[in-house]
Amino acid sequence: AKANGKHQVQLFTEALNAEANYKLFVENNLRRALTQNELEVFYQPKLCLKSGQLLGMEALLRWQHPEKGMIRPDQFISVAEETGLIIPIGKWVVRQACRMSKQIAAIGLGQLQVAINLSPKQFSDPDLVGSVAAILNEEQLDPRLLELELTESLLLEATEDTRHQLGRLKSLGLTLAMDDFGTGYSSLSYLKKFPIDVIKIDRSFIKDIPDNQDDMEITSAVIAMAHNLKLKVVAEGIETGAQLGFLRRQQCDVGQGYLFDKPISGRELIDSLRRYPCR
Ligand code: C2E
Ligand code: CA
Ligand code: CA
Ligand code: CA
Repeated sequence: AKANGKHQVQLFTEALNAEANYKLFVENNLRRALTQNELEVFYQPKLCLKSGQLLGMEALLRWQHPEKGMIRPDQFISVAEETGLIIPIGKWVVRQACRMSKQIAAIGLGQLQVAINLSPKQFSDPDLVGSVAAILNEEQLDPRLLELELTESLLLEATEDTRHQLGRLKSLGLTLAMDDFGTGYSSLSYLKKFPIDVIKIDRSFIKDIPDNQDDMEITSAVIAMAHNLKLKVVAEGIETGAQLGFLRRQQCDVGQGYLFDKPISGRELIDSLRRYPCR
């Protein structure tokens, strides 16, 4: 037992070292990634579930590391938050996303709304609203074409300052969406206290439809209540026709998922818009 205990301690220490090394690796490399153009924004289409029409897309960050290949955001966003690097990276994402929407309009492929993810840490930047406003102005994008996806934890921990920032973002004319709805602690009534326009039902509620009766009931109740509060509802992670059918019957407004498209590069997005201009 004693030997075993010692072994466990050793494993634990190794795991901690591995984690610390990994964080150090990400931290050192991420700084360079931003300046060396290793970061890229991918886009996942969002469709109107009633008409099938393309409404816009969500911007999702990717990191093309020269040796490690593509690194997904789950593996580096938390380090970017801890180091504060998320602030310059986040501004860069806003600019790229604005340019993409602008470029699509410029070549006559439609007015598409682009959504970007904002982590709570970005609200600690006193210049957040000012820099979003400046980017919109510099890129000459209609603010109605920019949507910000926020997390429940932001609202839960919201200070007077955060509340003020959200109000200012809203008055710029942007759309505010609550991401991953249902995974945190906020309720729909709580959302009324903030200027939120859209909720995104988390993929965890969608993935077991139609086998899981509870998930179906939660999903339809959330849609009905959101509509009563005049909120638009997006379902994320739609992978099957059965899920799509259920969500359409519940009158869910917008859908996103592998059934339609995976996140794709800006180039691929434009190519597919050229091929299917009016899908
Ligand atoms: P999220 O905002 O919840 O984004 C949805 C995630 O689900 C994306 O993962 C997307 O690729 C994936 N997804 C979409 N449709 C399906 C589907 O049908 N099935 C499955 N299994 N997955 C689907 P991704 O791109 O790896 O991003 C992970 C998370 O990283 C995002 O979750 C978001 O929280 C964060 N993230 C991504 N880009 C940014 C960014 O620019 N800034 C910040 N702060 N966070 C970001
Ligand atoms: Ca999101
Ligand atoms: Ca989400
Ligand atoms: Ca999610």
